[in-house]
Amino acid sequence: SKLKEGLNKTRQNLTQRLGTLLAASSRLDDDFFDELEEILLTADVGAKTSLELVERLRQEVKARKITDPAAVGTFLQEEVTRLLGEEVPRLSWAPSPPTVILVVGVNGAGKTTTIGKLAYQLGREGKKVILAAADTFRAAAGEQLAIWAGRAGASLIRHQAGADPAAVVYDALQSARNRRADVVLVDTAGRLQTKVNLMEELKKIRRVIERELPGAPHEVLLVLDATTGQNALSQARLFSEAAGVTGIVLTKLDGTAKGGVVLAIAAEMGIPVKLVGLGEGLDDLKEFQPRDFAAALFS
Ligand code: GDP
Repeated sequence: SKLKEGLNKTRQNLTQRLGTLLAASSRLDDDFFDELEEILLTADVGAKTSLELVERLRQEVKARKITDPAAVGTFLQEEVTRLLGEEVPRLSWAPSPPTVILVVGVNGAGKTTTIGKLAYQLGREGKKVILAAADTFRAAAGEQLAIWAGRAGASLIRHQAGADPAAVVYDALQSARNRRADVVLVDTAGRLQTKVNLMEELKKIRRVIERELPGAPHEVLLVLDATTGQNALSQARLFSEAAGVTGIVLTKLDGTAKGGVVLAIAAEMGIPVKLVGLGEGLDDLKEFQPRDFAAALFS
């Protein structure tokens, strides 16, 4: 599957080293668990989550009186599944249209691409989609979004460079009402050099949405680049404070060995990963299926 293919590098990093450890160890001693923790750390599972996972395994091994290292692999997969949650986290929809989805994240994380893919997929479901180009800071961002709008058959609301992003959002919401659109996807700026200004800008955009459409935004998606590993976690903290993140989109899972960061996000942030990016194509945005993900990691 595409997921399994995408996770190739993470799997090589995690599963193959794990397999070697399980095959080479004769005893479940401290050395074994230390090595296991090390393997999780290299796959970017994160210090806290790696330690917790290993501790839980230690207890499991003790409680069930397991002595064979080979048996530990199965338990690890079970623990990982439990950590990610059993349910598939879905996007939230407005009780009556339009649904407003605010998309945030640092430059380069994959916001515009994700919006393009999402617009395309929603369009294919017959939904009328409006894209709001609220990153007015970079002219290129608006141009990129225009290209994606064309590909996806979505409408675009865009102002000149330097315009007030909140005004773009206001216009997009008016337009959604007039045209009876189903979904408004809001692209935002991600310049971390001016962190404070950016967070104020996002808060202002949120306020405009809340004022114009009670109950909205229905979803605030934080786009994180999986290849940045643990940096993704600190970004998650920053953005969730400013924008009230309701879901995470983890992009570029294809071609990174750091896919384990999904576990750290699930365990430490308590924000569900809702979508994953597995490539640059229109169809390369998928729902996050915790069970499949855990299975793809370990098989
Ligand atoms: P933005 O600055 O956050 O809007 O980021 P962009 O959407 O412009 O994406 C930055 C780069 O990452 C582009 O070259 C995208 O093609 C690439 N990209 C985005 N998502 C994915 C993904 O899931 N997989 C891969 N391989 N590349 C991606």
